[in-house]
Amino acid sequence: MEAKNFNNTHKHHAIVLALPLQGHINPAINLSLKLASSKNFTITFLTFEFLHQQITQAQPTDDSDDIFSRARQGPDALDIRYWAIPDGLPLDFDRTTRLDEFLGWYLYGGMLDHIEKGVEKILFDSKPKVNVLIIDTFYPWASKIAKKFGLRFASFWTEPALVFNLYYHVHLLKHHAHLGCPDTRKDPIDYIPGISSIEPNDLMSYLQDKDISTNMHKLIFQAFEDVRLADYVLCNTVQELEPNTISALQSLMPFYSIGPLFPSKTLQNVVSPSLWAESNCSEWLGPKPNGSVLYVSFGSLASFTKDDVMEIAYGLMESNITFIWVLRPGTVPNEGDQFLPSGFDEIVRGRGVVVPWTNQVAVLTHPAIGGFLTHCGWNSIIESTWYRVPMLCFPVFSDQFTNRKLVVDDWNVGVNLASEKPLRRMEIATQIKSFMSKKTRDELRKNIEVVRKILEDTLEAGGSSKKNIDKFIGQLNN
Ligand code: UDP
Repeated sequence: MEAKNFNNTHKHHAIVLALPLQGHINPAINLSLKLASSKNFTITFLTFEFLHQQITQAQPTDDSDDIFSRARQGPDALDIRYWAIPDGLPLDFDRTTRLDEFLGWYLYGGMLDHIEKGVEKILFDSKPKVNVLIIDTFYPWASKIAKKFGLRFASFWTEPALVFNLYYHVHLLKHHAHLGCPDTRKDPIDYIPGISSIEPNDLMSYLQDKDISTNMHKLIFQAFEDVRLADYVLCNTVQELEPNTISALQSLMPFYSIGPLFPSKTLQNVVSPSLWAESNCSEWLGPKPNGSVLYVSFGSLASFTKDDVMEIAYGLMESNITFIWVLRPGTVPNEGDQFLPSGFDEIVRGRGVVVPWTNQVAVLTHPAIGGFLTHCGWNSIIESTWYRVPMLCFPVFSDQFTNRKLVVDDWNVGVNLASEKPLRRMEIATQIKSFMSKKTRDELRKNIEVVRKILEDTLEAGGSSKKNIDKFIGQLNN
């Protein structure tokens, strides 16, 4: 699928390629909007046919608009083109349940060929000429594409700089026996540049694993070799929030903190990129008192055992707190959708609602929302902070443990849900009640104001993210 060609005088033209996951697509869209709004930029947003199909099917109306059609047609007439290409696997191949096969395909070249063909087609006769490839850092062969077509290579990192820094120095973790040996050390890690000290259990889950030979580990390690060849690294974070880590990285590479990429004032211009149909919660939230509702979501990828979901469900029941719970299809793998305790709906009727997916930003903006029980996905953290919603943190995997450290230990805008597994319903209920108490929320909200102000200031003229994005655009002229 190809969008129409524009005839314009823009100077730069970037191909943007996100990882095909909700938490990577959303910031890539926001980055595309931001660059296209700079008036000097044309964007071609490259995506996959299977994703385009899933996003289209999740739309409430059956139209053929792509994510950016409103941005093109709107008053700013942004020049964002949209291409969907095959990734080489059948459209109905389940890339979530057959993740390891998908990763194998991704790692060992099958997907690369298809992306190269797509890029070649875009480059053919493109006006203005494409000069930069902005590509998610997790593509382990990104530099090859940029080199093959003579493009600048901007690696796009959608997680905090702290996480980037730890992956980048994986060789040090191995050298110091904190990774990849039978008896990994349990003492704090204090030798990574820019990180004074971090506990091993705050590392990303993949760096806590005993077996580091899986396709996922190969992909990460290869990606962090490849990123060393990047001309620029663009990171969705803020200099003032991670100053030491970012300074350390800047002494090693052209690392630009350009966040928060959310919110964008042009966001209203986007057709929803949700991979699942959104349930509208605003009517349900409407009459609820300000700050009284707990929003519960574990993002687009985290999965749980049936027992864990049961404990969370009983915890919510026992807490007596009003809640919206996003329970994504597939949250409990191979269990269908029937994993709540029997009678749950009747018991919580009027006080709690369970939805498969929603517009998270719309929910967080609602004055009735008083707290967010979150898995600590980086986008969720940024969104929650922007809308001044304190967080109750329950990281599940990947970068979420490391992100939790920033939220709870460094910025004090959230508290931990449970430190121990297995989850216990009464502990969950007690923690939820205490988190939603006026005293705790007032304290957290005071801190969140400080962080929100940092996020606001960085986007203003003279703010660090604004300056960094201008600097990145300026560099492309050289
Ligand atoms: N999201 C949403 N509706 C939901 C749950 C999540 O729109 O019901 C969005 C959320 O706003 C965020 C993204 O999905 O932008 C999830 O990204 P995050 O980094 O928080 O977590 P991940 O899904 O990558 O684990």
